[in-house]
Amino acid sequence: NFYHQAKYTISVHNLSQLPSDTGREVAFAGRSNAGKSSAINAITQQKSLARTSKTPGRTQQIIFFELDEKRRLIDLPGYGYAKVSITIKQHWQNTLERYLQTRDSLRGLILLMDIRHPLTDFDKNMLLWCQHSAMPVHILLTKADKLSFGASKSALLQVKAQLTQFKTESSEISIQLFSSLKLTGLEEARSVLDGWLGV
Ligand code: GDP
Repeated sequence: NFYHQAKYTISVHNLSQLPSDTGREVAFAGRSNAGKSSAINAITQQKSLARTSKTPGRTQQIIFFELDEKRRLIDLPGYGYAKVSITIKQHWQNTLERYLQTRDSLRGLILLMDIRHPLTDFDKNMLLWCQHSAMPVHILLTKADKLSFGASKSALLQVKAQLTQFKTESSEISIQLFSSLKLTGLEEARSVLDGWLGV
């Protein structure tokens, strides 16, 4: 597992701190509590690479994990955090948008959604942005273990049907079931990363 090599490199609060924009990177985004940290830990087979926590939205930074000299995974700040001020929210929104818009090495976005609460307004905004900027996006419907097999399949089909509105000829959008707890969908997720990172 190539992703096991992931090593924490830097947490960025301001865009001036970004590591050099060379090679390839893939960013993970999602509403707080969607299971992003757990997914990063599962994919990299590391217990606590990305911190998991029950207090949503504690991390207000862009976190870089190096895979090798040319490839990185990025943990974007969870959105939907309630306990920060408007000013901080705006600062974050700006920082995040500018990162997404200007980062040449960014090859794709992994968007995580709790299978029981998919397609929040923020998810939709993210998908619209990906559509307009032709950024490939792969959705993980997380915590699939919380539903029965049948219910998770039907949730997958329902979200898939709604994704057609975010599709254009030039946009690449895909989706899968995922569970960090049961380790389902790991290989599928890694193979999408392989493609984007050129592994
Ligand atoms: P983040 O805020 O998006 O990074 O979410 P976390 O990874 O910290 O997970 C939020 C909560 O959901 C934690 O209590 C996790 O234990 C739980 N969780 C995450 N992934 C799964 C999963 O695949 N299955 C189940 N049952 N719970 C999960």
